[in-house]
Amino acid sequence: MIHQYTDYSLLPHNTFGMDVKAASFIEYTSEDDLRRLLDERRRMQAADPLLPIGGGSNLLFSGDFCGTVLHSAIRGIDVVREDDRFVWVKAGAGEVWDDFVACCVSRGWYGAENLSAIPGEVGASAVQNIGAYGAEVKDLITEVEAVEVSTSEVVHIQADECRYAYRQSIFKNDWKGRFIITYVTYRLGKSPEFHIDYGNLCAELEGKPLTLSTVREAVRRIRDSKLPDPRKQGNAGSFFMNPVVERSHFEQLRALYPSMPFYEVDAAHVKIPAGWMIDQCGWKGRSLGRAGVHDKQALVLVNRGGATGAEVMALAKAVQADVKARFGIDIHPEVNYI
Ligand SMILES: Cc1cc2nc3c(=O)[nH]c(=O)nc-3n(C[C@H](O)[C@H](O)[C@H](O)COP(=O)(O)OP(=O)(O)OC[C@H]3O[C@@H](n4cnc5c(N)ncnc54)[C@H](O)[C@@H]3O)c2cc1C
Repeated sequence: MIHQYTDYSLLPHNTFGMDVKAASFIEYTSEDDLRRLLDERRRMQAADPLLPIGGGSNLLFSGDFCGTVLHSAIRGIDVVREDDRFVWVKAGAGEVWDDFVACCVSRGWYGAENLSAIPGEVGASAVQNIGAYGAEVKDLITEVEAVEVSTSEVVHIQADECRYAYRQSIFKNDWKGRFIITYVTYRLGKSPEFHIDYGNLCAELEGKPLTLSTVREAVRRIRDSKLPDPRKQGNAGSFFMNPVVERSHFEQLRALYPSMPFYEVDAAHVKIPAGWMIDQCGWKGRSLGRAGVHDKQALVLVNRGGATGAEVMALAKAVQADVKARFGIDIHPEVNYI
């Protein structure tokens, strides 16, 4: 089934709470519907821009979108293969990511629990390479099924072709705009294997039995206590990616800032939390116009009410400039500017 709307409000479709419209908004419930509507666009020689979205939790609209927004309502979570150790589960792009995690936890499938409560949908998980609490979805994905926009052909893309890296994939780079993801297949474990040595997860679990449910609940509690709820205050989670810098640069900085936190990347590189640098620059809790830096988590930019995309972008620019001036490091948005 295909539902099509014109001059459509995107307010319920972006967690930043931008009050913008799309010239056209189309939702489809099957891969065949998607192929048909792409065929039709070619037949009509439609030239307006296309934007596939999921839950809109990583988008920042600078204004109305003059093209067609496509939203997948393809559902389904099905076991496609299993052996003694693993189960391969194929999920529709339109499934809510956290519903998928809840399903894995209830079925006793291991691997997705640390990624509990990340907003958004299954399709975007494969674009964004979502990650949290030491886990990244690239370690679960085995195959991405997608439709090629220019031909309507269905393609099966193996995980090793997706060029996954920290919050990166080929879908955000070389293949941006080329495919619309319809299904993602994940491989989950059948026997207990937990990774709780990240952040305060271990402390949060102290005194509790180690199960899929307790890990999921602990992750949810920590996230609730740290991150603003987009239903109450517009935001898109971490606004910037944590920069990876040369070890020599890091050592110079550490001489000046001995408490600077860091994560080892490899022999030559170190990752520095962008939120710490933003905090050091005095931005935590501050505002510029109606956009602000969250008062508990400096990595999160928020809409304090009625902010425009331009206001959030101006704040991001000011923050980036201060971090560059103080630490000599460029920080880049994780959020997709539209
Ligand atoms: C409060 C909060 C907390 C967050 N915490 C985390 C976190 O811990 N870790 C993390 O990694 N992220 C986090 N995020 C960011 C966000 O949840 C993820 O980036 C998520 O994957 C976005 O999913 P979405 O469905 O909302 O995608 P959207 O924001 O709608 O789209 C994201 C990108 O994917 C593309 N896209 C979407 N669907 C498709 C499709 N079917 N085919 C092709 N391209 C598509 C879009 O064009 C866009 O480029 C957080 C966000 C919020 C608001």
